[in-house]
Amino acid sequence: MVPIPRRYTTDAIVLSRFDFGEADRILTLITPGSGKLKAIAKGIRRPTSRIGGSLEPFAELNVALARGRTFEVVTQVSVGHAWLNLRDSLESAATAWYLAELADRSLEERAAAEPVYLLLRHAYGLLDAGMAPRRVARWYEMHLADELGVRPEVDRCAECDRMLEAEGRFRWVPQLGGVVCDRCPGPAHSLAGLSLEALKLLKAYQRLDIEAIAALRQAEVVEREVEAAMRDFIRYTLEREARSLGFLDEIRTQSVPRIPATPPAAPTG
Ligand SMILES: [Zn+2]
Repeated sequence: MVPIPRRYTTDAIVLSRFDFGEADRILTLITPGSGKLKAIAKGIRRPTSRIGGSLEPFAELNVALARGRTFEVVTQVSVGHAWLNLRDSLESAATAWYLAELADRSLEERAAAEPVYLLLRHAYGLLDAGMAPRRVARWYEMHLADELGVRPEVDRCAECDRMLEAEGRFRWVPQLGGVVCDRCPGPAHSLAGLSLEALKLLKAYQRLDIEAIAALRQAEVVEREVEAAMRDFIRYTLEREARSLGFLDEIRTQSVPRIPATPPAAPTG
């Protein structure tokens, strides 16, 4: 890898953060050019900190960093663009944390991350513009899978490669990479059926542009089916459940009094 200069500036979005020591905070940032990295903001929790108010999630930041032994050190921050409307609804704020967590889990530190950076930035713009959070989340999951090289198979049987036919019956098998037809045995215990309507919606997330996806009318039961399918797929791909999902599900079923400053299940040090 090309050596990184001692001091540099970059665009960045905060993926996660936790308090450290008496007044510091450690952040995981995604940057277009330097990938995912960890940075420490020293003294940020003191009222006199110059960077305290700027180093926030849900914003595209311009950050000056100095290379440190363990972490980069944040020396300056300015806000390039803040997605302020995104915070107006708990569901969209919780979804934004979920999307950030998926980006975090998907990337190795310092690995190329520009496509994921652009995807996250686009998704935050959509949430900010008021698009239904779960539509944004499904669109993002589908395209993130694409970027990770595991595009879900929704046109052919993932086992026998036959084109799927509308009159067939389908199963959703993340271990095999997508849909399996009714002629194939599939792995043991793969009993999860997939309706034709859900298959069509999955295809729409792969193929349609975002305006068309936003305008789709779908029955609640189909939306739920696709949500479960994509969550299964992402869980299988990333080899674990996203921590922020529990909170996202909770706020859908009850009202929570305030917008989370951090994902509630994030590590605390
Ligand atoms: Zn088959």
